[in-house]
Amino acid sequence: MSKTIAAIASGNTPGGIGVIRISGDDAIKIASKVFAPFDKTDLTELKGYRAKYGNIIIGGNRADNAVALVFRAPKSYTGEDVAELSVHGGMLLLQNTLQAVFDAGAVPAEAGEFTKRAFLNGKIDLTQAESVAEMISAQGQAQLKASFNALQGVLSNEINAVLEKLLDMSALMAAWVDYPDEEIPELGEEELEKTLEEAANRLKKLLDSYDSGQTIACGVNTVIAGRPNVGKSSLMNMLTKTEKSIVTHIEGTTRDIVEESVRLGDIVLHLKDTAGLRASDDYVETIGIEKAYKAIDEAQLVLAVFDSSQKITDEDYDLIEKCRGKNAVAIINKTDLSPAIDTNIINSAFERVVFISAKNNEGYEELEKAVKELLGVADFDTNAPLLANLRQKQNCIQAYESICAAIDALKAGMTYDAINVMLDSAADELLSLTGKKATTEVVNNIFSKFCVGK
Ligand code: GDP
Repeated sequence: MSKTIAAIASGNTPGGIGVIRISGDDAIKIASKVFAPFDKTDLTELKGYRAKYGNIIIGGNRADNAVALVFRAPKSYTGEDVAELSVHGGMLLLQNTLQAVFDAGAVPAEAGEFTKRAFLNGKIDLTQAESVAEMISAQGQAQLKASFNALQGVLSNEINAVLEKLLDMSALMAAWVDYPDEEIPELGEEELEKTLEEAANRLKKLLDSYDSGQTIACGVNTVIAGRPNVGKSSLMNMLTKTEKSIVTHIEGTTRDIVEESVRLGDIVLHLKDTAGLRASDDYVETIGIEKAYKAIDEAQLVLAVFDSSQKITDEDYDLIEKCRGKNAVAIINKTDLSPAIDTNIINSAFERVVFISAKNNEGYEELEKAVKELLGVADFDTNAPLLANLRQKQNCIQAYESICAAIDALKAGMTYDAINVMLDSAADELLSLTGKKATTEVVNNIFSKFCVGK
């Protein structure tokens, strides 16, 4: 019998409603000690999927009006008996209620323990459990959609489909080797090769989409660069729609790097608005410029800003040079003014060029399109199965390599016995990806990254 655990499930900030979640064999009994239904019924008699309205009772006194929800094992999130108490969402009230739940016999839930129990009780697999954490931390719409799809089992289904093929092949080969006299249909080498190649291709497709998936999931470290007064801060403002970056007529006032995360359509940009890139005698400003060059070197994306109303300067040429070989979008700003810039120079140096007027908020969609194309996420399919993290990727690589080795072995005329060893090892990797064969260490590591109450 596992201990009954409890935690605040609704986070550590005050809200209209806060939820205490209790899970385990004694969940409903414990809830009944701190919750009294107004209709005087016994909470422990309540069927699953039912709710009661009543009072939270702490130390014999009524402490709040609340709703108790009851779920009966195995039809609950964790697969155990679960009670959820929805109280008013003040932190003190939530903490008092949680303490009363502990006093009634529950123990504090560890980080991710509800989801871990759901996994251990077979309600969800490991990829689905990981998607819960991703949904909670999602910043961009595409990441939210992709992690929800993973929660629905889109990735697990793909992995299991490949796994099934491997296991079928493996079983047939084993049977054919072990019982050559029985009437087991002999595997045609061509068919075997075709099936293995199909499996390898499906895994390859997952591996190929990993980088764009990560771009969508984690966001992109982005630097806004350009000489003073081209409109970097104004662009940042246009993106953040706030007045956080200083916009001023005096050159060189954005001295340090301002950081902010913004959504550009589906993707999240972690923005750095750097000091104007300009030769300077001012010591403080020089430090800022050095930082700016370093930031460009380290960035995954550079938004290089130019002023359309002025001719290209030496500093602009320096920036163009700095951007070579980088993921950089040239942004020609101030299109509301009469043009003086030689766009041919910019066009020949950058893969993507966008015209905007930061002042008039014009060019946002074009910028979004250019950034997505440059990062290779323009056709990103949030409905496709996606590997969500390095753990999953690593398992997938190992499985892919084992299948490729099996194909080579087949072509080289090796025995089915030998090939089967490789297929077994591929299958093991896929089983560990979905968690059916994951080690306790891997499982504990995954759930330790969750927050308490999830
Ligand atoms: P930074 O030094 O590169 O950060 O440039 P700022 O964003 O501080 O802008 C410098 C000046 O250019 C300010 O006076 C802005 O109002 C002005 N500016 C910025 N963007 C535009 C634009 O699109 N059109 C016009 N006409 N002025 C702009």
